[in-house]
Amino acid sequence: MPIRRTEAIILKSMKMGETSNLLTLYSRDFGLLKLIAKGARQSRSRYGGLLQPLYVIEAIYYHKETRDLQLLSQASLIWAPRRVQLDIEKLGLCLACCEMVLRLEGEGHGNPAAYGLLRATLETFERAESNIRSLFLAFQVRLLELLGFSPGMDHCFHCQERTIREGRYDFVNGRIYCRNCMSMALQGRTVTQDMIDAYRDLARLPLASVITKAFPKGAIAGVYHFLHDFFRYHLEEVRQLNAIDVLKQLKSMQGAFSQA
Ligand SMILES: [Zn+2]
Repeated sequence: MPIRRTEAIILKSMKMGETSNLLTLYSRDFGLLKLIAKGARQSRSRYGGLLQPLYVIEAIYYHKETRDLQLLSQASLIWAPRRVQLDIEKLGLCLACCEMVLRLEGEGHGNPAAYGLLRATLETFERAESNIRSLFLAFQVRLLELLGFSPGMDHCFHCQERTIREGRYDFVNGRIYCRNCMSMALQGRTVTQDMIDAYRDLARLPLASVITKAFPKGAIAGVYHFLHDFFRYHLEEVRQLNAIDVLKQLKSMQGAFSQA
């Protein structure tokens, strides 16, 4: 049986049988993986406390093509979210990032860019002193791009103009129209320049700048509501996803966002 080695982020850990755990990992080289960690809950487990959600590990496992669940052989710690673990809001947002990867990523292939995004995002949450909701939105915006669900905010769908001072977003077709072409949009909602600028900043600024930038009042809430609607229209359609859990997590944050 071939042995594989990869860096991976633990997305989820569930009890399995008397003493084992079933881990869902996002691995750099092989994408989503389900591994059984035998004896992980024994008091003197060789894994110590490192098989917890958000931990980054090097995993060595036995891979069998015909099997859905693979068997973990060894794990060593690469990075632990020490400060995130002590902060309930950061922890919730980091787990929501993991949930989104679980819901949106396909199985059976590695996506090093999306892996790198999740890892960098967790590390930025660890350091962040402010703007953690903006960071969560930046993660979502980038994940959509990397997984091929881009909302197409780069330029006007009709005239291709990149500078959009105000426009209309057609949620059904996933297109933005600039002010001059707004009448071409068959449906949708007006989007403000602040929202468009904030969306683009969240997509492009280094994550370290996302957590320090002073965004205009209301712009981040605008992006939040935009993404909320985009998910509702798209993610179920595009890949028959049931993104309800993610939406619930987002919804519980709605109060906080509408005051932003
Ligand atoms: Zn236009």
